[in-house]
Amino acid sequence: METIDIKYFKEKLETELKVLTEELEKIARINPSNPNDWEPIPQNLDIQEADKNESSDRRAAFDQNIALVKDLELRFNNLKEALQKIEDGKYGICEDTGEQIPVARLEANPSAKTCAEHLGPEE
Ligand SMILES: [Zn+2]
Repeated sequence: METIDIKYFKEKLETELKVLTEELEKIARINPSNPNDWEPIPQNLDIQEADKNESSDRRAAFDQNIALVKDLELRFNNLKEALQKIEDGKYGICEDTGEQIPVARLEANPSAKTCAEHLGPEE
């Protein structure tokens, strides 16, 4: 059986989490009552009526932000979950079957929850 280099993957996950957090902080803020929930920051939508076109552009940009935040938030939570598994000594174990996830798969996706054959609905 392959050995998973926990220290290596922990550093990888922490680096990814840091980059992701910086991305999220540009467009969202953490929900004060739920640290796993990021709320998109509303742009200034209450601008003058004269700027209607600009306003709808901003609305569209905000809608895009909502989708982006959702995507980043999912990755953020996956990374945090993977780091928690390292703490719990359960990192690299397939959530579906309990077998070890191949190292090559973890290399491609350090927060993988299952091996490739047992993909969850989120992946
Ligand atoms: Zn599996």
